[in-house]
Amino acid sequence: MKEKMDKFLKALLDARSPTGSEYEATAVLEKYISGVSDSFEKDTLGNRFASLGKGGKTLMLAGHIDEIGLIITYIDDNGYLFFDQLGGHDRCMLSGRRVCILAKKGVVYGVTGKKAIHLMDEKERKEVPETSHIWIDIGAKSRAEAEKRVSVGDSAVYDVSANNIFGSIYAARAFDDKAGCYCAFETLRRLSAKKKSLSCRLVSVGTVQEEIGTRGAWPAGYAVNPDVAIAIDVDHATDYPYVDARKSGLIKLGAGPVISRGPNMNPKVVERLEECAEELKIPFQRAAESRPTGTDARILQMSRSGVATGLLGIPLRYMHTPAEVADIDDIENCVRLLEAFALSLKDSDDFTY
Ligand SMILES: [Zn+2]
Repeated sequence: MKEKMDKFLKALLDARSPTGSEYEATAVLEKYISGVSDSFEKDTLGNRFASLGKGGKTLMLAGHIDEIGLIITYIDDNGYLFFDQLGGHDRCMLSGRRVCILAKKGVVYGVTGKKAIHLMDEKERKEVPETSHIWIDIGAKSRAEAEKRVSVGDSAVYDVSANNIFGSIYAARAFDDKAGCYCAFETLRRLSAKKKSLSCRLVSVGTVQEEIGTRGAWPAGYAVNPDVAIAIDVDHATDYPYVDARKSGLIKLGAGPVISRGPNMNPKVVERLEECAEELKIPFQRAAESRPTGTDARILQMSRSGVATGLLGIPLRYMHTPAEVADIDDIENCVRLLEAFALSLKDSDDFTY
């Protein structure tokens, strides 16, 4: 059992990267990856691309680097900030949080406020608040004072960092999808030490803007033009109260990465992933996806003339909350599986069917 979180993963989790403002996280990638890859590039959306090795086949590993956040839309006369959501939040979770705003002159700290329960009537107490009924309080006394520190269009995330809960179980603000992004690049980092055994070209990509519709993966897939693409994202662990496995399937925390099957996934890629896992005795779980998934795999499969696509999931409890829970053993096993998959790729592989 892994008890200590890798520094690279911790740095990614602590980096604040709301959709559209991913620069703290891309700086972490640059720090840890640019020195071990053959090339390290960026594009006009902010995607990051690291490549390793040469070969007839190109394998793209994609993990999104953005996380859900808030964007400031209005500052009122009293200096309170109103916002919209970047990605899908549970509105029950939005108030009573410490937040940090990534402003031009640096980080501004605040809290999300709403009317206290004592001041609500019976009806209000039962309601889920609209986003516009919650505000950010940065301790400013007026609009003018607030505007000296924050501008409309600045974005924010919850001000919480990754913490150990017990053993290999951690809570963090954005395992979604720093965990997947870590897997894509950590695989490259480990393979850089055994480059000679690699017979494909590996391109690890940190995609941006996934949370508002897999937007970074779209041009990234076109640019890389891979033969095989594997998206790595979090997947719902369903091992907690009130989730019906008959509706949502059964995925457990700590039982290994999730290999998804269904029309979004190439059956030969799925088969190869399962073979690699079985050979190395890496635990894994299966999930069925009846439709295009809400991940980068959705758009990568449809790139150019079609790409053989796979999807690996890291089991995650409480997705899109300030306290997402994951098991770092699952993350480690996902890296081991990706490493084995990359090493198994040969020029002669054919993923048409
Ligand atoms: Zn997400």
